[in-house]
Amino acid sequence: MCEICEKVKTVDFFPTAKAYLDCLKYIQSLVDSGSFQFESKDCDTDKVKDENGCWIDDVICHVIKCKNCGQCFTCGVVTYRGSGSFRKGK
Ligand SMILES: [Zn+2]
Repeated sequence: MCEICEKVKTVDFFPTAKAYLDCLKYIQSLVDSGSFQFESKDCDTDKVKDENGCWIDDVICHVIKCKNCGQCFTCGVVTYRGSGSFRKGK
């Protein structure tokens, strides 16, 4: 962890689908800021739902990495259970 990524706001549990979607926007903003890059992603952050409004998969995962120190953060959800989090680590 460095002074850049220690400011990342992690989420232990998404209470609602909106909280997850808001977190994806936050992740995208971190990448857009230039300080982070995607380590892996199942889809674009604005493509987690298809044109019918359905989740694209049962499990959706986005991992970002701090360009400065290499620390990873993982945002993962299990859509059919409605559980997920944004946490430090892979
Ligand atoms: Zn860092």
